[in-house]
Amino acid sequence: MNCKHAAWLMSLRQDRPLKLGENLGLRLHLSYCPGCRAYRQQLDFLQRACRAFTPPESTPPESIEAPPADSDTPPSR
Ligand SMILES: [Zn+2]
Repeated sequence: MNCKHAAWLMSLRQDRPLKLGENLGLRLHLSYCPGCRAYRQQLDFLQRACRAFTPPESTPPESIEAPPADSDTPPSR
């Protein structure tokens, strides 16, 4: 496995879990390639930062009630 393949697997891992063979190959590559280890740390950091800055969806904004329409007067015929 070369660095390009390793980087591809690492970005793929963000979308879906790797297969056993892919995971083993990636681990082996990371064990001897400091460049890809640094790249993986960057990816992890970015992913965590993204999660930290994404607010949970359970905080709805203050509900803004529209003022009642001025339709008290019925149309006169
Ligand atoms: Zn590498």
